[in-house]
Amino acid sequence: MLALSSRLFGLSKLQLSSTMLPQIQTDESLTSYVRRSLFLNQLGAGMEAFKQLTTFPNLRNTEVKIIASALGWPGCYGFNRLIHNHTLKAVDYIFKSNQDFSYSQKQYIRDDVRFCDWKASFCPDCVRDDLKKLGYSYWRRFSTPFITVCYKHNTVLMERCPFCNKLFSQTAHPLDVMWQGCRGNYLNEAISLPNDDPLALRHAVMVHEICSSPYYLSYEGMIHSLRDKAASVTQHLSGESARQMNFLYYQMDALQDSLNIYVKINNASRHDESKLGLTKFIAKIYGGFSDVLGDLTAHEFEFRSIDSLWSTYQSGGIETANFVEEDSINGLGYWSCPNPCQWSKSEHSTDHLETKISRRYKCCNLIAS
Ligand SMILES: [Zn+2]
Ligand SMILES: [Zn+2]
Repeated sequence: MLALSSRLFGLSKLQLSSTMLPQIQTDESLTSYVRRSLFLNQLGAGMEAFKQLTTFPNLRNTEVKIIASALGWPGCYGFNRLIHNHTLKAVDYIFKSNQDFSYSQKQYIRDDVRFCDWKASFCPDCVRDDLKKLGYSYWRRFSTPFITVCYKHNTVLMERCPFCNKLFSQTAHPLDVMWQGCRGNYLNEAISLPNDDPLALRHAVMVHEICSSPYYLSYEGMIHSLRDKAASVTQHLSGESARQMNFLYYQMDALQDSLNIYVKINNASRHDESKLGLTKFIAKIYGGFSDVLGDLTAHEFEFRSIDSLWSTYQSGGIETANFVEEDSINGLGYWSCPNPCQWSKSEHSTDHLETKISRRYKCCNLIAS
């Protein structure tokens, strides 16, 4: 990955002006935006960086920063704004511990998460609605394999082209089919397939509502609520359903035990499990998002608006999380360690070893510095 990053690091110097780019649309996936920009302005000055992005199998930290920068959203704030509004990874960051002061923890300075790839799926009814409203359509972040149904129209998302049966992908059938069609046909001509799986719809709606939450949601509260709910639901089930619900109870119980330990030692750096998988359990147990919110309010949690943490990243810490908040106006970064853990002081701790290494924090736009 290092080689890829350094290649793109050079590319960041190719200036893309946000005025040349189309507006990124609500819930548009990053790969849709890259391909759509190129489709509209293939030969435009500065599009070399976007062309290069299409050669990578997926978009990670460096690639997301290039898009954010091109949109005129630089720095940590712009990076997280793009992730929050245009990738499914947002779910992982909306569920949060009170001790976490960053939006995406260390992802602003690390390159180990794939934020988006080139697989895509579409709802024919959404395409038809978009054509009426915008005159064109685009690919959404709510997509297969994780989301299988359109939350708006309750139709099965199509991951294969209805005209040639190829999977939408990076090379076999690139996303341009949305704008140039296939064999003389266009995706708005596709016949939509009604969904007959109520759980798949509930899951799609739930993920959409989680992503639309104006506030962070308590991760500890969610685990606690799922555990209690699983325990009460199990009593009314039998056979395989009861066994599955019981298994979920024990999973949540074990997770809660480990979270209790992390909370006790003030260690936000440990809360880095993927929360996306949890949404399937949430949809299974809860009728709707309002029921989830009802249960979460019973837990002590600081309500923070989503964009309040976009400027902050976790700058380090193994036993104790420490943070840097970027001040893009003054070009400064403010370091803080709000919840020091007693284990960090131990000579055997990784944090203690790190204090022996001097480190320079770059600010504010890491990719441009
Ligand atoms: Zn739809
Ligand atoms: Zn096709």
